[in-house]
Amino acid sequence: MDQSRIRNFSIIAHVDHGKSTLADRLLEQTHTIEARQMKEQVLDRMDLERERGITIKMQPVRMLYEKGNVAYALNLIDTPGHIDFSYEVSRALTAVEGALLLVDATQGVQAQTLTTLGLAKELGLVIIPVVSKIDAPLARVAETVAELSRLLSVSEEDVIKTSGKTGEGALDVLDAVVLRVPPPEPTVHEEPRALIFDFHYSDHRGIILFCRLFDGSLKRGDRLTFGASRRAFSALEIGVLRPDQTPVERLSSGEIGYIVTGIKEPGVAAVGDSVLKEKGTLPPLSGYEKPTPMIWASVYPESQDDFVELRQALDRLHLSDSSLSYEEESSGVMGRGFRCGFLGMLHLEIITERLRREFALEIVITTPTITYRIVRTNGKEEYIHSPVHFPEHGEKVSVYEPWAKALLMLPAEYVGVVSQLLFEFEGFVSETETLPDGRISLTAELPLRELMRRFFDRLKSVTSGYASISYEVLPERPADVVRLDILVSDEVVPALSRIVSRKQVEGEAEKTVEKLREALPRQLVEVKIQARALGRILAARRISALRKDVTAKLYGGDVTRKKKLLEKQKKGKKKMQGRAGVSVPHDVYLKLLQDDGS
Ligand code: GDP
Ligand code: MG
Repeated sequence: MDQSRIRNFSIIAHVDHGKSTLADRLLEQTHTIEARQMKEQVLDRMDLERERGITIKMQPVRMLYEKGNVAYALNLIDTPGHIDFSYEVSRALTAVEGALLLVDATQGVQAQTLTTLGLAKELGLVIIPVVSKIDAPLARVAETVAELSRLLSVSEEDVIKTSGKTGEGALDVLDAVVLRVPPPEPTVHEEPRALIFDFHYSDHRGIILFCRLFDGSLKRGDRLTFGASRRAFSALEIGVLRPDQTPVERLSSGEIGYIVTGIKEPGVAAVGDSVLKEKGTLPPLSGYEKPTPMIWASVYPESQDDFVELRQALDRLHLSDSSLSYEEESSGVMGRGFRCGFLGMLHLEIITERLRREFALEIVITTPTITYRIVRTNGKEEYIHSPVHFPEHGEKVSVYEPWAKALLMLPAEYVGVVSQLLFEFEGFVSETETLPDGRISLTAELPLRELMRRFFDRLKSVTSGYASISYEVLPERPADVVRLDILVSDEVVPALSRIVSRKQVEGEAEKTVEKLREALPRQLVEVKIQARALGRILAARRISALRKDVTAKLYGGDVTRKKKLLEKQKKGKKKMQGRAGVSVPHDVYLKLLQDDGS
């Protein structure tokens, strides 16, 4: 395709500002999807996305649009808004020349608006300011237009007003894309070279690469190779996403499309790698930085028989989500499992939910933790992201932990409660600014450990949803944290161990044993629950035994017989925490995990 007729662009915004809905209208206007086949947020293709009403995966789609008797191919990549998925956004942005920056007319500029804008500017993209939801009763259109024009230093006429609900402004957006987004730079190389920005896996077609072609052209049957893994393959099919995979004869420089590889082994394709001509001469394109996991948690199969299946499921999920990291680990009591790294709490939730749903796996997940750097007295240092490896009380070590710089935007009346909340999460406000519309922008610093303790949820609830947040990671600082172990009938439950602030350890100890007392089902024997830290027991509870036990009819007689019977029962019920005969059902872990920090 003639390069001057191609426009590649993305939609970026704070979460819920209407990206996917506006994309629906663009798809309709261009007859990519006819109105009668339309469903809301059609680009959110995963069940989970549709249920939760959020975009998790970026989604590319090609639209054909005619303007002034010229037919253009407009390649749109819809992106997720939630901060945990900003890695998706950054990848999408390297594949395009322009971005629509959406701001909800009922909300104004929010924290993630600024972060994604920063990203787009860094990459030198052309930015088209768009006000969305102008139909909404609470829309403040004029103010939002003014806000965007100030933010981007453009005139107010350049800001496009749209409604994804009524379709108003959708044509203006398409026109602006044609006029303002530059076509891809002409290529100087004949050999094909494409950037892999995403890939999918299909049972019968293997790995399907989503890529942006920067040089040369591609056709079916071409012999190609991966820049990093150097694995060669033939292009079994090439095509474009409309949004379903539609084969084409040829993809040329500047275009966005897919390549079917037929490769089924894991570990060959990587996001950020290049597709090159086999035995060609071009070096790979500079890819992306691999994202660093923010939090870690272990995932164990409820039954060890499912271990292999769990590995396959993780291999498979990794194929569509390269930001997931995992390595095998084994723990005495829990058996074999995986230590997994996630980009945030929502990412963790989504992955564990997918393991359960798409792979029907029963899993146990341990309390999440961030990475700590431990320096021992002999100078040896070590990165630890598992509470069970954290030094025992009494060992002399220095501990360092990453901090976060958070940007919060909120109505002035919430500044008090939010400052209080920050204090509770061991943070402080470093900068305060009043915005032109009267809202307040706060810059705060707090330990990443605290931010990951459901800070977002708490922020949302104390501000009735009116505060927005984004954050970046700051360098490490010394940490005053200790390891808190939970014992059930005198045995440590490794899944419940965690690293907490010394200041909060007593409160956490109390809270955890109490929650566990409420959540654990009563057992045949009395159950002792204890929280241990700083070398002593900080809190304890007891759950009395169920009266009607199997030994009841044994009139107190033969003790060995009684023991034997209990033994048998134990075996039947043995799950994770075997020896004392006390089982911790997996929903109890989940409950503790979900309530954490509240
Ligand atoms: P995204 O997270 O930016 O992709 O936002 P969505 O497109 O998923 O929309 C978020 C919410 O805003 C949904 O409940 C939509 O129904 C609603 N919404 C989106 N666009 C409009 C609009 O133009 N007008 C109104 N009134 N609501 C909208
Ligand atoms: Mg969306």
